[in-house]
Amino acid sequence: MRLSTHDASAQPRPNSTMLRPNLGPTSARPRPNNKLMDAEIIAIGSELLLGATIDTNSAYLARHLAAAGVNLFRTSVVGDNVGRIAATIGEALGRADLVICTGGLGPTLDDVTRDAVALAFGRELEFRQDLLDQVVARFAAMGRPMSASNRRQAYVPAGARAIENPRGTAPAFIAEDARGTVIVLPGVPYEMRYLFESAVLPYLRDERGVTDVILVKTLHAVGLGESVIGELIADLMLADNPTVGISAKQARYELRIGAKASTSAEAEVLVAAAEASIRARLGDHLTGEETLAEAVARLLAEGQQTLSLYEGTSVAPIYAALSRTPAGLDHVRGVLIHPLDRPTDELAATSLAHAGAISAADRWRSDLGLAVQAASTPDARGFTAVSVALCFPDGSRQATRHYDLRQPEGWDFVGTLALDLLRRHLMGDDQMTG
Ligand code: ATP
Ligand code: MG
Repeated sequence: MRLSTHDASAQPRPNSTMLRPNLGPTSARPRPNNKLMDAEIIAIGSELLLGATIDTNSAYLARHLAAAGVNLFRTSVVGDNVGRIAATIGEALGRADLVICTGGLGPTLDDVTRDAVALAFGRELEFRQDLLDQVVARFAAMGRPMSASNRRQAYVPAGARAIENPRGTAPAFIAEDARGTVIVLPGVPYEMRYLFESAVLPYLRDERGVTDVILVKTLHAVGLGESVIGELIADLMLADNPTVGISAKQARYELRIGAKASTSAEAEVLVAAAEASIRARLGDHLTGEETLAEAVARLLAEGQQTLSLYEGTSVAPIYAALSRTPAGLDHVRGVLIHPLDRPTDELAATSLAHAGAISAADRWRSDLGLAVQAASTPDARGFTAVSVALCFPDGSRQATRHYDLRQPEGWDFVGTLALDLLRRHLMGDDQMTG
């Protein structure tokens, strides 16, 4: 460990190098030409590499940097090793203007982040009486004796600007050189978040001119293949701003629209334009901001409709699909689980589903009956015919598809198919047929 030889009695640096949380508007000069654009995060701690602690700090910082309009290039995790931390910081500064580190600011010998930052900047560690005063005051306030090792926390790389930490003993700091800025925050998530919000965000806004906002909106779609959706919105997915991304889960799709602008109003306009194009192309496959289960729960509640289920398998895929939202079972009167007890082909499965929907609705005297029945054996390709049926007072509708039920998520597709059949009926759409 290298500590500078500065005397403990050295004068504290002037207060202008101290950043205090919650200062409100400061006299700091905005530097709009020095706008930070690209950032990296480095999570420090051997416990993260051992899998003992999950790195939630990086996820938190990633979300908040995005919301502040700062592009995140990369995140890294590195153990408590001076050389490797310093090297990681050096590499990050080669790619990004802003590097945010968390962890390793504690008093023990394995907390080496401040040494590593000093090494990365080629500077000495410098004793700061004002920091020692804060650490002493913090211990006094907690009524706990301060150990000699806490003195380490009064050192920062020479020239760094300290951030007072009213939530813990370790002061955080900001170090800069021509390559960029390194902001070092404690590893304890609660302290890290507090200092990020009360000191780092104001610093980025007031002194680094970071004013962009990124707005993200998520829409849900069902029922089309991922490649079909991808083709329908291919041009939107290639655009830079707003960006559109898809993630798929068993025939349910999440479409994320992200827009970057200098005000939230502008970002909202960009998001609204992308949303309008997506709506025009996906039509009623889109359930909007609601998931499929949420849409069904709302439509049942609005129409004051009661529902009973017939599940021709102990997997109970419809029940599982409805359970994805807290209100999903509010209007369900009963569930009949009736696993197959004889060989059943596609035709038989179709009639059993139809009969099952009617018997479930009769049994619990509900407005609607929704049923699923799969054939007992798959075809030569491994796909099994599955039929879902819905009955309502003046009719019924049915859909039959083929799924690979050897994989557990196969049943998840079935639940989606059944709920979508119900959703379309509740929306008054009679075009869907099996
Ligand atoms: P302090 O001096 O306040 O203890 P520190 O900077 O020394 O802070 P660490 O010793 O690295 O912080 O970690 C303190 C605690 O925070 C540990 O319990 C650790 O599991 C947790 N922690 C550290 N880094 C992360 C992270 N990236 N995500 C979630 N938790 C973390
Ligand atoms: Mg640590």
